[in-house]
Amino acid sequence: MKILYVSSEVVPYAKTGGLADVAGALPQALSALGHEVVVVMPKYRMVDEKKFGLEKLNDELYRAKGKVTVYFIANDKYFDREGLYQEKGVDYPDNCERFSFFCRKVLEILPKVGFFPDIVHCNDWQTALIIAYIKKLGEWPKTATVYTVHNMGYLGLFPKEKLAATGFGWEMYLPENLEFWGSIALAKAGFVFADLINTVSQTYAEEIQTDEMGFGLAGLLRSRSQDVSGIINGIDYTVWNPETDAVIARKYGTKSIPLKYENKKALQKANNLPEKEDIPLIGMITRLADQKGFDILAGAMEKIMHLKCQMVILGTGEPKYHELLLNEKKKYPQHIGINLGFNAALAQLIYAGSDLFLMPSHYEPCGLGQLISFKYGAIPIVRKTGGLADTVHDLNPKTGKGDGFVFEEYSSEALLNAVKRALTAYRNKKEWLKLIEKVMCYDYSWKVSARKYVELYNRGLTKLSFIQKSGNLL
Ligand code: ADP
Repeated sequence: MKILYVSSEVVPYAKTGGLADVAGALPQALSALGHEVVVVMPKYRMVDEKKFGLEKLNDELYRAKGKVTVYFIANDKYFDREGLYQEKGVDYPDNCERFSFFCRKVLEILPKVGFFPDIVHCNDWQTALIIAYIKKLGEWPKTATVYTVHNMGYLGLFPKEKLAATGFGWEMYLPENLEFWGSIALAKAGFVFADLINTVSQTYAEEIQTDEMGFGLAGLLRSRSQDVSGIINGIDYTVWNPETDAVIARKYGTKSIPLKYENKKALQKANNLPEKEDIPLIGMITRLADQKGFDILAGAMEKIMHLKCQMVILGTGEPKYHELLLNEKKKYPQHIGINLGFNAALAQLIYAGSDLFLMPSHYEPCGLGQLISFKYGAIPIVRKTGGLADTVHDLNPKTGKGDGFVFEEYSSEALLNAVKRALTAYRNKKEWLKLIEKVMCYDYSWKVSARKYVELYNRGLTKLSFIQKSGNLL
C-alpha cells in the first residue's frame, strides 16, 4: 500500500507533544510491514537542514531520505518562527493561513514528486483541510482518507472571516461543513469528509461521542459512529528503553533494576533534593494545562508535600501553573523539583529516576507517559480516562494483580488518595520490585498498533470502492 502520512509535528524534527512521537514512529512501523510511506510536515525554523541532513529540492520543498521519505514544506513567512503554533502561550494570529497553505502545498507536491497514495492519513486540525480538498476537488477518487484525532481539545477554531484563507467560499460555512457554533473548525474538514475517523484509544473513541467530552462535535461523531474507532498508540523502544538509553545516568534492565537508583540519585541531585534512595519519588512530565489535571493537583499539592515523598515536575504551558509550581518550590525546596521548559534529555532521566509517575488527566486521548514509564519501571498513578483507562489497571496489593494506581473521580481528594495508596504499596520492597519487573516487560511497541492501522486502511479502501460501485449503479 502507498500511504501518505501528514502531521504538523514529527519526531525527531519538531515536537510539542505525543502527536510528534506517533508521527515519528508509526510510519516507520508501517514501512517495516512492507508498505511505502511518505511523510510530510512543515519546515519550521527548528528543522535544521545541516543537523538533519536535508536535501533542498527547491525553495519550497526539502527532503530527508530514509526507509520513510519525509518532505518538508518551506515558507519563511509562515514557518521561519520560534514556535510551531504559538509563542509565549499565545497562538500565532495567522495559524489558519499557515496551515491552509501547508495543506494546499501537500497536495501540490505529490504529483511533482511522483507519489500517488492509496491512503491519505491526516492528523489533527492542522492537516484536516487536505481531506476536504481531496473530497471537494474529487481528483483522487481511488484514494481513501483517514483522519486521526489526537486531542478533541484542539479543533483549529477560527473566526468565520478566516474561511477565505482556506480557499473555500461561504458554501462551506454550514453546520454540515466547517461551521462550528458561529466560527469555523478546521478539524471538521476531517470529521465530515474523511472516509474513516479514528482516535488513539478505544475508550477515547467512545468518550468523544458523549456530550461531556465531544467538545461540541459529539452529535456529528455519533452520526458517524460506524466510521469511528480507536487504536492505542505504541511507543518507539529504540528511543524509550532504559537498557540502551544513552542519556540517562546509568542504563538498567529487568535483570539490573537496582541500577535504576543511580538515576534516581542523579535526578535528585539535578533538582537539589536530598539524595535518598528510600524516599519515593513521583515524576511528572507534561504540558501544564487544565487537560492534564493541574487544577486538581493544585488542590492536593499542599497535602502531597506533607507526605513522605519527593516530586519532580517537568513541563511548560499555562503561566498560572508556572507560577503555582514555582511557589511550591519556594515553600518546599526539599520536596519538589520544578523544571519549566521542554527538555527531552531531562524527560528521559525523570522516567528513569522516578518510582512513580503521575498523570491526573481530566481527559487523555491515549497518553504516552504511562507507557514510557512502564518501560522505565516507574509505576503510574492515573485518572481513569481515555487511554489511561485502557492501559493502567489498579493494583490489588493482596493479589498483586494490576500495574498502577487508578482513581476515577476528578477531584483533589481522589488524587491524594491514589498517591497515598501508591506510597503505602511502595513500602513493601519485595512486592514493589516484582511490580517493576512486571511492567518493564510490557510490550507497547508499534508493531501491533501498526497492523491495526493497516486493517483500518483496508477498511477505508473497501468502503470507498463500495461507495463507488453503488454510485455507478445509480
Ligand atoms: P500530549 O500529547 O497530550 O502532550 P502524551 O502523554 O500523549 O501527551 O505525550 C507527551 C509526550 O511529550 C511524552 O513523550 C512526554 O514525555 C513528552 N513531554 C511532554 N512535556 C515535555 C517537556 N516539558 N519536556 C520534554 N518532554 C515532554
